Amino acid sequence: MLHIIPIPAFEDNYIWLLHNEKHAVVIDPGDAFPVIDFLQKNRLSLSAMLITHHHNDHIGGVQQLLDYQSAPVYAPQYESFAFKHIAVGEGNLVDLPEIELQLHVMWLPGHTLGHIAFYNHDYLFCGDTLFGAGCGRLFEGTPAQMLHSLNRLKWLNSATKVFCTHEYTTKNIAFAMSLEPNNQMLINRQRQVQQLREQGLPSLPTTIELELSTNPFLRCSQAEIWQNSQAVNNQELSVFTAIRALRNHY
Ligand code: ZN
Ligand code: FE
Repeated sequence: MLHIIPIPAFEDNYIWLLHNEKHAVVIDPGDAFPVIDFLQKNRLSLSAMLITHHHNDHIGGVQQLLDYQSAPVYAPQYESFAFKHIAVGEGNLVDLPEIELQLHVMWLPGHTLGHIAFYNHDYLFCGDTLFGAGCGRLFEGTPAQMLHSLNRLKWLNSATKVFCTHEYTTKNIAFAMSLEPNNQMLINRQRQVQQLREQGLPSLPTTIELELSTNPFLRCSQAEIWQNSQAVNNQELSVFTAIRALRNHY
């Protein structure tokens, strides 16, 4: 049985750790210390690391983990890294035999130009591209690139569990409510997330289905969002560009 555990790091990062009670795979280990602590306490051996993009809060622990236990690191082909790694990109399949899992690679430029995600029928590990009710900031890509990347995720199996790297859901929902105050699914989600966070639990994983019904960045064609977006027209890209800018200052 595969367990997927969020290891909190820094202010609001999650390092997702997949394990079968013997072997473990980590995604975006920005910090080595809490990962090594978890591996030791649960007697797990590290069999691979997966990297979505080059930001330090996603890779800061890689070298220290390699020094602790050697393991292959899969990282995006269009970004550069100081540590030894296997470059992967669109269409590649990452085989993780120790945990009996295979993940496809999707290139999702926007947050960074080389950003990738790992996915299969059941899971999506999307780094800083899609967040609970939100999306990543555009540090390197254009709005058109990010919109295209997000729109590709809409076609994944709707029950796919989505493992985002930051706990931004509460603030994202508050922002989404300013655009779609009458969205009943969003109102319900706000209550559910508030209860989870009050109990100290993560708001994640989310699902593609839930994001389709509550995430404004996947809903740029909705009339209500356009009307509240200050966009120059109702074109999907205009609305996306306007609400991404509004969210930056929210
Ligand atoms: Zn990032
Ligand atoms: Fe990040």
